[in-house]
Amino acid sequence: MDVASVLCMNPPGDGKRSYANNSLLQRITISKSKPFLVETTKNMIRSMKRSSSSVNGGWPACFRVADLGCSSGPNTLQVISEIINTIDDDIICNQQKDDRDHHDPEIQVFLNDLPTNDFNSVLKEVPAFYNQRDKNKLRCFVSAVAGSFYGRLFPKESLDFVHSSTSLHWLSKVPDYINEENKGKIYIAHSSPPNVYKAYKEQFEKDFSNFLRLRCEEMKAGGCMLLILVGRRIPHPSASKYFSPFWDLLATSLMDLVAKGLVKEDDINSFNMPCYTPYKEEVREIIEKEGSFNLDKLETLEVNWDLREAIEIGEENFVLNENQSGQIISDYIRAIAESILVHHFGEAIIDSLFKTYSEHITEYLHFHNPKHVNILLSMTKK
Ligand code: SAH
Repeated sequence: MDVASVLCMNPPGDGKRSYANNSLLQRITISKSKPFLVETTKNMIRSMKRSSSSVNGGWPACFRVADLGCSSGPNTLQVISEIINTIDDDIICNQQKDDRDHHDPEIQVFLNDLPTNDFNSVLKEVPAFYNQRDKNKLRCFVSAVAGSFYGRLFPKESLDFVHSSTSLHWLSKVPDYINEENKGKIYIAHSSPPNVYKAYKEQFEKDFSNFLRLRCEEMKAGGCMLLILVGRRIPHPSASKYFSPFWDLLATSLMDLVAKGLVKEDDINSFNMPCYTPYKEEVREIIEKEGSFNLDKLETLEVNWDLREAIEIGEENFVLNENQSGQIISDYIRAIAESILVHHFGEAIIDSLFKTYSEHITEYLHFHNPKHVNILLSMTKK
């Protein structure tokens, strides 16, 4: 499977099945990690000011920021807003008026995703975004960049700040040589042979190292990168019966469809998800080994599966209803994985699959209190 040409979050045209309508989990993650983003941005500003005696106190005439894996929902512009507000408060408001008249800094924003992404839906929101920004002094220019972040996307040494949230768990491909070994599973499971975990771990190491090397080429010296990775709590698959309950239960649901004669077992045996949820120490090791960046901060952030934090972040339409949590999670996984599942299994099974899946999730939630684990990282280009 060529992930870059198949993977696509469900577009806004899919209505209640769209990523835009099923990305509250990612929005909660972004909202809860706001202090991390603000602190990282302020530290970057401080270090830029320290390292230069030029006009604008080391601040470039045009500050360039990229959000990689922006998708087709509202979250990306929320992140960009936070970055601009922080810069605006810190730089522009503290600047002498004379300075400002001569060197009004500007900001260029690049929103990146795979070419399959529905960029139009994000770009339609840009005029409203500009209007809201009128209160800021910083002029902002938004554009879209289609391509894989596992290839070069920007000219050399052109970016000041790179951001990416909940995107880097998508691998460039399914690791080689695991299909035959991982029968009845679609990801690393407690009962998968050890080679499966090893193959996934190595593929992530290859992809993430490549990502770091490419961004290092594209970023200016001293540039800053903030990543939010979907991670895991346990270091090794043997440590828990459920290594990744999302995918374990989706595999169980597919097997249910085999029993009903709707899916061939061989089709499950030849399918594995092209994603990996690293343990925080794995990420640290890769960054240190690859060597292009100094890791400034690494934290983890947990969000409940039932998304009860939505209330804390002021999502007015969210009503916590334990009986609906299974359905919400099932819709969320459908919005991100439907393109890949349709590519392999065909469209006809999708409704039945996610009906069964939501029942399995509901049952799982009766006995467990699972949390999504996110790894927050900030680093500086050496
Ligand atoms: N950052 C957004 C979207 C997260 S969903 C948010 O927080 O809501 C993950 C996104 O990563 C998807 O839109 C997917 O298409 C994108 N993605 C996955 N692999 C990618 C790659 N190799 N290059 C660019 N984008 C990728």
